[in-house]
Amino acid sequence: MRIVLLGAPGSGKGTQSQRLVERVHIPQISTGDLLRSAVARGTELGRLAREAMEGGRLVDDSLVLGMIRERVGEPDTRRGFILDGFPRNLAQAHALDHLLESLRRPLDAVVQLEVDYKELVRRLAGRRSCADCGRVFNLLTSPPGPDSTLCPKTGHPHRLVQRPDDNEATVAERLRVYDEKTRPLIDFYRARGLLQVIDAEGDVDAVTRRLAKALGEPALAKSPKKKAAAKKKAVAKKKPEARKTAAKAGRRKPAAKRTAAASVRKARAAAKVRHTARRAAAARRGKR
Ligand code: AMP
Repeated sequence: MRIVLLGAPGSGKGTQSQRLVERVHIPQISTGDLLRSAVARGTELGRLAREAMEGGRLVDDSLVLGMIRERVGEPDTRRGFILDGFPRNLAQAHALDHLLESLRRPLDAVVQLEVDYKELVRRLAGRRSCADCGRVFNLLTSPPGPDSTLCPKTGHPHRLVQRPDDNEATVAERLRVYDEKTRPLIDFYRARGLLQVIDAEGDVDAVTRRLAKALGEPALAKSPKKKAAAKKKAVAKKKPEARKTAAKAGRRKPAAKRTAAASVRKARAAAKVRHTARRAAAARRGKR
């Protein structure tokens, strides 16, 4: 599965990508995360990207494309990947097309997450992420709950931090850049027959269900925990049902026939024992 998640900053691409990763076990490739990591590590790429990121502008295409080429070439992407935050303009979309064509691994789907402008601003103001594992939370819509209080990297509660570019002025610029440069990708992918648009407002689980449906994978909608519980329940429920089905399919005879067949088998075995005993006795008599 090779998927692109499109949507404005704050539309939930990161959150929904993480949910897909848990369910389908293909990596999320977030250019924003890769760039933030480069900035934090103080690499040359980070140094070159930093200013544009702080201003809410797009980082130079050549830098981002170099990063994507390298990442998509890694072995964990063989089963697929989820692109989050890339492509961000038409030049990047064309470059991605060429790259995947040369690898003979074309995109399977592009999903646009639609969220109203006011809601985007509200979400971005509440967005926090764990400084250690990167998991995204929202103080308003999805705060850390009892099942997510520990960070898998540290084993301690998540250390929530706000992204420096989630401040009011930078958010306005990022949304403007999205409208100008990224929105045209909706028509680009629609023309290629790859686009699905989903309503990404409201309950996070409901959005995951819509996303799963758009990808033609209803099974993705269930959380791993709920999936395991549903499986257990189904197995427990299935036992008597499974017997009936198997009996119907002829693999297992109904109880009455099973008893009759068992009696025949028993009688045949007893006859065989009697026959062997008679022959042995006859042989003994012959010897004498
Ligand atoms: P994100 O985390 O996706 O919101 O990205 C944060 C910032 O990283 C953006 O505001 C851009 O400055 C930069 N960035 C992320 N992805 C791209 C991209 N595909 N092209 C250019 N700049 C990007």
